[in-house]
Amino acid sequence: MNDAALKPQPAAFAEARAGILLPLPLKGPYDYRLSRPLARGTLVVAPLGPREALGAVWCECEGSLDDSKLKSAEVLEGAPRLPAALCDFIDWVAHYTLNPPGVVLALALRARQAFEPETMRTAYVRGRVTPSRTTAARTRVLSAVEDGLARSVSAIAEDANVTPQVVRGLIAAGALVETDLPEFAPLPAPDPDAASPTLSDEQRAAADALTAEIRAHHFSVALLDGITGSGKTETYFEAVAEALRQNRQILILMPEIALTVQFLDRFAERFGCRPAEWHSDLSQKERRRIYRAVLRGEARVVVGARSALFLPFSELGLIVVDEEHEQAYKQEDGVIYHARDMAVVRGRLEQCPVILASATPSLESYVNAASGRYLWLRLSNRHGDAVLPEIRLIDLRQTPPEPGRWISPPLEEALEMALASGEQAMLFLNRRGYAPLTLCGACGHKMVCRNCSAWLVEHRYHRKLACHHCGFEMPTPIQCPECKAEKSLVACGPGVERVAEEFARLYPEARMAIASSDTFHGPAETQAAIRAMAKREIDVLIGTQIMAKGHHFPQLTLVGVVDADLGGSDGDLRASERTFQLLHQVSGRAGRAAKPGIVLIQTRNPDDRVLKALASGDREAFFARECEERKRVHAPPFGRLAALILSSHDGEAVREAGRALARAHPAARGVTVWGPTPAFYQILRGRTRERLLVQADRAVDVQAYLRTWLERVKLPNSVRLAVDVDPVSFF
Ligand SMILES: [Zn+2]
Ligand SMILES: [Zn+2]
Repeated sequence: MNDAALKPQPAAFAEARAGILLPLPLKGPYDYRLSRPLARGTLVVAPLGPREALGAVWCECEGSLDDSKLKSAEVLEGAPRLPAALCDFIDWVAHYTLNPPGVVLALALRARQAFEPETMRTAYVRGRVTPSRTTAARTRVLSAVEDGLARSVSAIAEDANVTPQVVRGLIAAGALVETDLPEFAPLPAPDPDAASPTLSDEQRAAADALTAEIRAHHFSVALLDGITGSGKTETYFEAVAEALRQNRQILILMPEIALTVQFLDRFAERFGCRPAEWHSDLSQKERRRIYRAVLRGEARVVVGARSALFLPFSELGLIVVDEEHEQAYKQEDGVIYHARDMAVVRGRLEQCPVILASATPSLESYVNAASGRYLWLRLSNRHGDAVLPEIRLIDLRQTPPEPGRWISPPLEEALEMALASGEQAMLFLNRRGYAPLTLCGACGHKMVCRNCSAWLVEHRYHRKLACHHCGFEMPTPIQCPECKAEKSLVACGPGVERVAEEFARLYPEARMAIASSDTFHGPAETQAAIRAMAKREIDVLIGTQIMAKGHHFPQLTLVGVVDADLGGSDGDLRASERTFQLLHQVSGRAGRAAKPGIVLIQTRNPDDRVLKALASGDREAFFARECEERKRVHAPPFGRLAALILSSHDGEAVREAGRALARAHPAARGVTVWGPTPAFYQILRGRTRERLLVQADRAVDVQAYLRTWLERVKLPNSVRLAVDVDPVSFF
C-alpha cells in the first residue's frame, strides 16, 4: 500500500487543543480543548454527549472553532500514553482495512480498567512486639517473616505451614504489622541465559542469522522454514534471548491459545520463568495487569493471540509469528485483518525484526522468501535421530471400511500393531462432534440451524445438536420435527466423536481421549488430553486440527488420517494449500523421537496432486504447481483480492443493495468486479448474505479503488457492509 496516503503526525502538538480519537465508529478524531499541549497518544477522558469516553490525543485540530466553543478533555492521572508507533499502526490498519480509525483504536484499548488508579493490597511484616505466648506454630511464622518481605495472611500461613488463624493471632498481638503493597506483584523477568541450549549446526547457523538481525536494530522479515521436528522454537528462542539482552520487548504470536501449554513450559525451561500471556480467556484483572506491565515496559515477553498485536509496547525489539500459515491469524469479525501481515507492518513501523516460523509456509511467505524479499532460513533435518515418517495413501475404493464405519482394514491393522507393541497412535479428522448431518430416515428432513443455512452438528455425548456458526443448540429431538416419526433421525457421515466410538468398539482396552476445539470439549479438556498424550497416560488421541500443530509426542509412531478428501471442494482458492498444510502438520506428529513413524491417509482420490505431493514428500513441487495455478487466475500473491459482504435481516434489501453496489463500481484498468452472488452460507445468524469480489493486479491501489466506489453508494441502514481485504475464507 501507498504510505503517502497516510498523513504523518508530529509526536507533540504546540497548542492546548487537539483532535481526540475516540474508540467508536466515527469518521475521524473530534476537536477538544486541553489544559496544556499534549503528545500524540496521551490518553484523555473526553465528554461525548451525555457520556464520557476514553480517547487518545491524535492529531492537530481539523476545525477552526474558537477555544471557547470546544469542549475540554481531561488528561488521565499519570498521563499514560500510547507509543507513537502504535498510533501510526492504528492509522495504518484503519486505512488498509477501510475501517474508521476509532474502531481500530478500540482494539488497542481493550483493557478498560487498565488506567484506573492502582489499589493497594494489605500485607504484613514483623512488628516490634514479641508475643507473650509462644507455640511451635507461632515460632514457625516468626521465622518465616524474618526475611522482611511483606506478604498476605494466606501467603504467610502457607510459608509457615500454619492455619491463617495463627497468623491473625500474631497480628492481634502486634507481632505482625500491616503495610501496603502494590496491587500486582511484579512480573518475573525472563533470563536470556537461564539455560544454555544445545543446537545442531543447522539450528546454530539460523540462530546466528536471526541474532544478527536483532543486533542491527532494523526492520527485516525472516522466514524460519523448518520441517516438523527440526527445532524451530529452540532456534528462534535464541533471537528472543538476544532481544532480552538488548533490553527490548518481545511479542510472540500464536494462532490458537490451546496450543501454548507445552510452549509455556518450554519457554520456562529456557528462560527460567513463564512469559506474560494475552488472549481472550484472561480475566479483567489479568488483562489490567498485563496491559499496564506492557505499557510500563515491565512485561518483557508476551505470548498472545492475534489481539496482542495492539498492545502498547514501548520498546518492541522482535515479533515472532509462530505457525505463520495458520488461518486462525485471520480475524473474521469486526475489524477484518490478517495478524501475520499486520505483524509485518507493525515490525516496519517499530523498526524491529519479524520472524515468521512454519513447517509449511503460506504461499505468500514462500514467494516472498524465494524472491529474496524475506530472509530465508531453512531447517531441513529432524532433531536428534528422528527421521521423517513414511506416508502411505490408503485407497478407500479398494479397501473400504464396512458400511457405517470409517476405519479401513489397513488402518485397523496398523492400529493393532502399534497398540500391541506399546506405541502411541493418533487419528485425525477435521470434523467436530459426532456427525456433520442429521436427517430423518422417514421423510428425508435435514436438521438445519434456525439462524443459518447450515447443518446442525450432532454432539452425541451431550445429546445436543449445535450450529458451529452461530452457537445455536437444541436437545437432539426424539421425533422428526417435520413428519413427527419417532426415533427416525439418523446420523450421516463421521465426526471425531463417532470415530472415537468406533475405535472404542474395536479396542475396548485401549486408553483414548478426544481433542476438539468446540464448546463441548473446551480448551481445558483439550489441554488435558494433549498433556495426557505427552505423558503416555493414554494410547490414542483422536481429534481435529487442534492437535495437529506444535505438539511433541515422543512415543507416537502412527498417524491415521480418517478422511483426506474433506474441505477440498468448497471452491476456495486456498483449499489445496490448506489441505497440504494441515495433512503435512498432522503427519509431522509421527516419529519425532528414535522410533520411525508411519502416516496412513485414507482417501477416495489417491491421484489428487496434493495427496501425491504429500506422499512423495515433494513440497517444492507442490509449491511450484500452486504458484502456476495462482498466476494463471491472478490470485494472491500474484494479484489482489478484496471481498465485500453485505448482510441484512431483510433478504430483499440485501439483494437490492448488492445490485446497486455492483452497478456503481468504477471502471479501472486491472480491476474486475464479480457478483453479487449469494454467499456460500446464504443465511448466517439470521442475516441474509450477498458477496462481491474485487480482483485486481498487484499494482492497483485496492484501498483507493474501494474508497471511491463505496463513496458513490448510500446503503440503507438495514444493510451492513463488511470489507475483507485479502480474504482467506470465501463463506
Ligand atoms: Zn421426518
Ligand atoms: Zn446457526
